[in-house]
Amino acid sequence: MSRRNATPLTREDSSDVDMEASNQSSANSVCCGGGSRKLKAGLRVLVKMIENNKYEMAEIQKPRPSKTVRGGYDYYVHFMGYNKRLDGWYSEDLIDMKQIYVGRKVTNRKESVQVSPGDDNRKKVNRIGQTNVEYVLATEADLQDEEEDTPAIRKARKKEELEEGRRRNIDMIVLNGWRIRPWYFSPYPEALTRTEGIYLCSWCLSFWPSVYAMKSHMSVCPLNGPPGKKIYEKDNLSFFEMDGGVDDVYATHLCLLAKLFLDHKTVYYDTKPFFFYVLCEKDEEDCYNIVGYFSKEKCSADENNLACILVLPQFQKKGYGRFLIEFSYLLSKVEQKTGSPEKPLSDLGLLSYRSYWLYAICEFVIGHYEHNGTADSMKKYMSKELNLHITLPKLVEITRIKRDDLISTMTSYGIARQNINGTQIILSLSMVDKYFKNKKEKVHVDAKYLKWTPPVLTEGVASGSRAADNQRRTESFLGLSSLAED
Ligand SMILES: [Zn+2]
Repeated sequence: MSRRNATPLTREDSSDVDMEASNQSSANSVCCGGGSRKLKAGLRVLVKMIENNKYEMAEIQKPRPSKTVRGGYDYYVHFMGYNKRLDGWYSEDLIDMKQIYVGRKVTNRKESVQVSPGDDNRKKVNRIGQTNVEYVLATEADLQDEEEDTPAIRKARKKEELEEGRRRNIDMIVLNGWRIRPWYFSPYPEALTRTEGIYLCSWCLSFWPSVYAMKSHMSVCPLNGPPGKKIYEKDNLSFFEMDGGVDDVYATHLCLLAKLFLDHKTVYYDTKPFFFYVLCEKDEEDCYNIVGYFSKEKCSADENNLACILVLPQFQKKGYGRFLIEFSYLLSKVEQKTGSPEKPLSDLGLLSYRSYWLYAICEFVIGHYEHNGTADSMKKYMSKELNLHITLPKLVEITRIKRDDLISTMTSYGIARQNINGTQIILSLSMVDKYFKNKKEKVHVDAKYLKWTPPVLTEGVASGSRAADNQRRTESFLGLSSLAED
């Protein structure tokens, strides 16, 4: 059977089992007088979080009639102290309906420190005399309160309308056999958001309302991977370079997919000012399936060599985020230009970058010595640490990493010392060991396999980019994100 007729759906099958289990347990939901009690937005409840299977405190954002239990409700909830990517629709059987909390204003009589639950552990100091909202078990009267048309309620409704545009609107996507739960809102056509999920073509990323529609498209899809030019291939990993002005349909499909995993207010629709570098895994039928990508402005006033970066969730924690970053610097080396990612960096983006920048500095330092690829072979040059005098311009020239990024990395890892002879880099034995381990065990870009010459830009393209640059200063684009614990 050819690949095109054999869309792998094995991973979907296991999800179907989960869905069945969830439907069965829906029958246990709490009912009051023939239907469930409808809880208002703003109340807090304990909800069994899908990700950790534990009850966590969550705030109800919006109720809607249940799709599976007649007279019941589903609730869109935000887990207190957790990233919004974990927000989602939960049925009543996953909510502890016996403990419902309502906010009450209280004035502090003594100072206290409150640690927020969840994964951010933020501390908040409550001072004497300050008014706070405290959550207490709701009484029957609280729950029966009809919504009045007070200014506070009108304000809450307005806030909810604004939030609506940011709320995750798609429950599931299917891509190359993976069922993926999106994290954030993406402006796919509204009709598709009412289906149980969206089915994407693995190669052109076009979107379909059913598995049948997707399969029938894939049997005639003219592509077997991203459009554009294959500029790198080693083992099963390949990079395709795509011009957003030429392959604008694919680029738009890619941005829609990326937006599902990037929490930004707006999607940038004009793909023309960008090149896209799509990383793919080649399968046994010579089809190229997307792993992630980064985009790069054709002409960046800020010398950015990367605008947006994404590794799809099913490929995270495999080192692909760093692989994409390494590739972006390889292109800068060929171009003989120094580059930097578009700022600001997200927390996770900064972690991935710092890790790559440190690796590049170690590579530069260790490259000055003869070794056989093990920390042991370096011991003859060091007792406890390796010291090397460098000049920063040389380090910039070799790595193509911007000076400021190098300095911030050296400062944060405490590996540089300034003296009368210039800058001295000091690497501990454990750092040298970690470098060799990383080099051996993680996936790295092999420059020998790059077949690329920097694209020549015409005047029109360059001026288009500058216009985009200005627009982007006021409009947020797909920023750096989604490198989760790479
Ligand atoms: Zn297709």
